[in-house]
Amino acid sequence: MEVLDWRLFAEAMTEGQIRRRGVRDEGVLAILASLPRHRFVPSLGETPSEEELEAAYGDFPLSIGRGQTVSQPYMVARMTELLGAEPGMKVLEVGTGSGYQAAVLARLGCTVVGVERVASLAERAARTLADLGLPVEVRCADGRLGWPPGAPYHRILVAAACPRVELPWQEQLAPGGRLVLPLETGRGFQRILVRERTSEGFRDRWGEDCRFVPLREGIEGAAGK
Ligand code: SAH
Repeated sequence: MEVLDWRLFAEAMTEGQIRRRGVRDEGVLAILASLPRHRFVPSLGETPSEEELEAAYGDFPLSIGRGQTVSQPYMVARMTELLGAEPGMKVLEVGTGSGYQAAVLARLGCTVVGVERVASLAERAARTLADLGLPVEVRCADGRLGWPPGAPYHRILVAAACPRVELPWQEQLAPGGRLVLPLETGRGFQRILVRERTSEGFRDRWGEDCRFVPLREGIEGAAGK
């Protein structure tokens, strides 16, 4: 049987998982429906089978190696919607993993800097993004420190569970800027926090409960170590 085009899976994913759960931003929906998510899953070869494609666009996070995952499609869309990034904005993503979330932000027309602590993941993400023609600067570093050379940022998105809001993120946020991250709320629970930098300081609002892999200290070297 001929393998179905990945676009059919991407469209079904967008309608069935993302729009159905309440994401309304048409720009975000269009990007998710047209981005080849399977390209960000390292275990898939050049020509994935229909079963593999179905899993790549399934309603769950997927393993990308090193104990890490590419986030569930709905979560990527929801975080992007909450981030409210606009074309031309400078965006920092902490925890770039496969590069899928960074690709969504680049497709929005943002200038994206991605920071990933595992060197092999950072290298692969950079390659995948370049192959797709998406100009994302990927750095291997401890994202708890943000990425000072690129600051200030209009938006910062953290894709790993945070025990607290790190000061460098707030410091590297432009006035009127916005920070979106999964904050640990106790005993394995996390909730999306949206923190905005206002003229008076910071204003918070909460999104939904979520489940991300933990933010970790330091960096991890390449070459299978
Ligand atoms: N946004 C990713 C999801 C990756 S999961 C995607 O679309 O695929 C979270 C990622 O955060 C993991 O790859 C993990 O290695 C990374 N991470 C954890 N702690 C980090 C830190 N302190 N600095 C940078 N990256 C970190």
